[in-house]
Amino acid sequence: MDYITREIPKAKNIALVAHDHMKTLLSSWVATRTEQLKNHNLLATGTTGSILAKQTGLPIECLLSGPMGGDQQLGAKIAQGKLDLLIFFWDPMNAVPHDTDVKALLRLAAVWNIPIATNMATADFIMDSIHIDKSYATRIPDYPGYLLERTQ
Ligand code: PGA
Repeated sequence: MDYITREIPKAKNIALVAHDHMKTLLSSWVATRTEQLKNHNLLATGTTGSILAKQTGLPIECLLSGPMGGDQQLGAKIAQGKLDLLIFFWDPMNAVPHDTDVKALLRLAAVWNIPIATNMATADFIMDSIHIDKSYATRIPDYPGYLLERTQ
């Protein structure tokens, strides 16, 4: 696969997602990062977003609940270049009914080279990175080239 550059803006589109047993943890982490997160566009799966918006007062665009299609909506945004960073506290200790959707979301994040934090330590490393409050030239798959190769 060849790659092309995509400019991620200073104000990033950041998705926040947590499975049920991880929601309290994500909420307490978000509370420690409120000032920084205010500078970005936040979106979330339905339940996570509603809880976070209520508890932190941050403006958050709420998609559908994860098991009802919210993870897939996030995946679509990744493929469309509309999501820059995924903070996804998935639950390593409990099965979820939408495991296939979770895998699909994580897969698309890998395909499109989206930074993902799946736990608090990684979320801290990302938010303290020099790239978080600046624009960043990322590399994404060369989709036009990929299509050309497959259709000529
Ligand atoms: P929820 O979905 O925020 O609606 O609980 C999270 C998930 O993807 O499991």
